[in-house]
Amino acid sequence: MNSSQHNFTPLPDAFSRRIREQFPDSHPDFIAALDRPPLTSIRLNPHKWSRIQGSQDLPGDPVPWSINGRFLQERPSFTLDPLFHAGSYYVQEASSMFLEYVLSRLANPKQAESPAPAESPPGIILDACAAPGGKSTLLAAFFPESLVVANEVIRSRVSPLMENSIKWGTGNLVVTQNDPSHFSALPGFFDLILTDAPCSGEGLFRKDPSARLEWSADNATHCSLRQRSILTGLWPALKPGGYLIYTTCTFNPEENERNVAWLLGETGGECVRIDMPDDSSYHQNSIHEVADGSVTGYGFYPHRTPGEGFFLSVIRKNTNDHVPGGKTARSHSRRAAGRASHIQSPDPAAASNAGKWFNGSGFNWYQIRERLFRIKSSHLHTLEHLSGVLTIRYAGTEVGRVIRDEVLPAPAAALDIHLDSAVFPMIDCSLEDALGYLRRENLAVPPDAKQGWHLVRYQGLALGWTKNIGKRMNNYYPSGWRIRKAPQ
Ligand code: SAM
Repeated sequence: MNSSQHNFTPLPDAFSRRIREQFPDSHPDFIAALDRPPLTSIRLNPHKWSRIQGSQDLPGDPVPWSINGRFLQERPSFTLDPLFHAGSYYVQEASSMFLEYVLSRLANPKQAESPAPAESPPGIILDACAAPGGKSTLLAAFFPESLVVANEVIRSRVSPLMENSIKWGTGNLVVTQNDPSHFSALPGFFDLILTDAPCSGEGLFRKDPSARLEWSADNATHCSLRQRSILTGLWPALKPGGYLIYTTCTFNPEENERNVAWLLGETGGECVRIDMPDDSSYHQNSIHEVADGSVTGYGFYPHRTPGEGFFLSVIRKNTNDHVPGGKTARSHSRRAAGRASHIQSPDPAAASNAGKWFNGSGFNWYQIRERLFRIKSSHLHTLEHLSGVLTIRYAGTEVGRVIRDEVLPAPAAALDIHLDSAVFPMIDCSLEDALGYLRRENLAVPPDAKQGWHLVRYQGLALGWTKNIGKRMNNYYPSGWRIRKAPQ
């Protein structure tokens, strides 16, 4: 790790004072560590990475608490890497990947500690504050049979969330755009809720100098209150016996352990202690266990763990729980009750034709006007129910547009891990051609190329579609995803 100073925006005085009180023995190390360069890490997509042709070597060094996490020695231009656009990895800060370790403990009854953990994978998961999708994609890959509802309330952040979900390609994500309070219209619906709350962002002070400029003690207090309001909206939607995983990227106890204590007091929920392995790498890296009365949480501090600031706590809902704030938010429930679902039955011929494009069984089809989608059969009913309550922006995999008896393939179909790539003629691109394609340039027509749709690939992974119309190959890469960065 490079220990040279790189960040010249001074830390806010009030923050430094609080850190001195919070870490009386180690605050000089803590503060010094905030001026070190941030680390770069990626999380591999286990459903795509192994399909890359050529070198199968894993990049960089392992992240101890994530099977798919890798630290890179230096930060490449991800924008200029077609494998990034193919969804073969997600650029994610390493501490956040601790979620993967926690899920593995909760999913394995032998390994978690009291209270007794879940014995089967969660059926329906909510990631309530999801954009741009780092933890949603982790959840979707970790629980490929589950349905992951990735919600983002801020409209401008929904598009990147959809793009990342589509490129990830697991097909088990639903993207919604709702206020957290709307979820109380779905009592006991979710087996697992992740609340990666908007916070004062102290954990980003190393990575993002603007986080230092935007910080104030008043804003941190405002964040804490907003987090309580978010939790109040979400708690009724958690199934009794289910888990709420609460995370922030701040060190502020008001937003972390004190909010967890507040939630326990309001609901009767209880914290779940996560068993750390004897493996020395965890101890060397010293994930800090925050134990404060009935609260258990896990803190990632810059002088102790290789990663940015992070806090995580798991709260289990008891069967006899009550609602925080003493009331359920029923107004959205009443409003939503009469909402019609836009989900229609598919055109049978279109579904039958497009059905040949995919491997695997157990999928069903639905249509929204001429747009044809594919989703696991076991999730269709859940989706229909959700669509009467929530604002659904995307669900499953968009396969294409039904125009008369033809299905024009959608970008998401190319990126879906279940696509049978042998069904379409393929164009395997060089790096230069792949980047040209991602800039929406037309590829050259290969000699003897058939007319019609071709799958564009780079190192064996699909990027999207092109159509040979004889004189040229039309580029069907979505204009909103086009890369604008010049070659280096
Ligand atoms: N989970 C994301 C990931 O791993 O990529 C990061 C989420 S970020 C920490 C918090 C998210 O909460 C942001 O996307 C932000 O737009 C959203 N947010 C902001 N205000 C909110 C509110 N009042 N209720 C719910 N979410 C909110």
